[in-house]
Amino acid sequence: PAELEDLVALFDVRGTDAPTPDDEREAALAQPKFGTVFTDHMARVTWRQDSGWLDRRVEKYGPLQLDPATAVLHYAQEIFEGMKAYKHSDGSVWTFRPDANAARFARSAHRLALPALSVDDFIGSIAALVRTDKAWVPGGEDSSLYLRPFMFASEPFLGVRPSAEVEYLCIASPVGPYFAGGVKPVSIWVSQDYHRAGPGGTGDAKCGGNYASSLLPQTEAQRNGCDQVCFLDASSDTYLEELGGMNIFVVMADGTVHTPELTGSILEGVTRSSILRLLADRDLDVVERKIPLTDVVEGLADGSVREIFACGTAAVVTPVGRLAGGTFDHVVGDGEPGELTMAIRTELTDIQYGRAEDRHGWMRRL
Ligand code: PMP
Repeated sequence: PAELEDLVALFDVRGTDAPTPDDEREAALAQPKFGTVFTDHMARVTWRQDSGWLDRRVEKYGPLQLDPATAVLHYAQEIFEGMKAYKHSDGSVWTFRPDANAARFARSAHRLALPALSVDDFIGSIAALVRTDKAWVPGGEDSSLYLRPFMFASEPFLGVRPSAEVEYLCIASPVGPYFAGGVKPVSIWVSQDYHRAGPGGTGDAKCGGNYASSLLPQTEAQRNGCDQVCFLDASSDTYLEELGGMNIFVVMADGTVHTPELTGSILEGVTRSSILRLLADRDLDVVERKIPLTDVVEGLADGSVREIFACGTAAVVTPVGRLAGGTFDHVVGDGEPGELTMAIRTELTDIQYGRAEDRHGWMRRL
């Protein structure tokens, strides 16, 4: 890989002349609420069909001015990523597997007919932004700087075709512990009426439209007293796919661990693939397969399913304490966080926060 210094040097830092006063920033960092406070700057690169990627810069964070005809507002040609920067005890700042997010961003771009941003520009933009706003990386336990790279069709044009103008930006938001006051199991509602993605659709791309379509089923889950929605496959309505924003794992009493195989309609989580690796390191039998919902429901009833957990960048590993749907409602284990669930959670966060050896070379210093 190219030297990070060289990638960062491509970005012209146009620093704000009105940075947030230190006391205001410290107050925001002390109690960060997910996704509500943003740092002083954003990274930005502009694309034109005729000239490619231009004008790599870090500029003052602020509103975008868009023509009402801007293509993204009509046809949702947009993709994004979600990752975190972690402060280690020596004050250094690191990201977790940014190359994996860069690769997924490129796959998403391809599916949405957006131009590919190089891995170098993706990582360079993040490093340039985080270095500029280093004072915004929280140091508290389980705190981090959430990074949101995204790209959208910015051409003012109402025709349905790939946009000839595209903007890429990365914004950053300090976040505190996802579970304030300790990890708590979530309840999951398996949607009967809606699917998230279908064969040949955009399920394995991280595009805004997937999330727009998950909002109604998510409210249905909440109406049924659950925290999160889980989707089944659209072809047969039989197999577990994933939650609105997390992948899912099932731990059996026989010690094997199962997760839905990647079918094209599931988002390949960076957390998911990292956990697969950590489980294999423990010499556990890990199976990626099609998992029928009925197997899981029966397994919860007869005790052969011991733990269920969900995983993703925001919450890392989330125990599932209850699984419900139209015709079933089961507590998972004793309803408390499972042993393997919590062990994997600790192992992963210890690597991310620099408390354990990074034996897979996942961390990248910014
Ligand atoms: N599935 C979906 C639909 C998601 O939005 C996310 C969050 N990006 C995940 C799974 C987990 O992915 P990751 O581990 O890369 O955060």
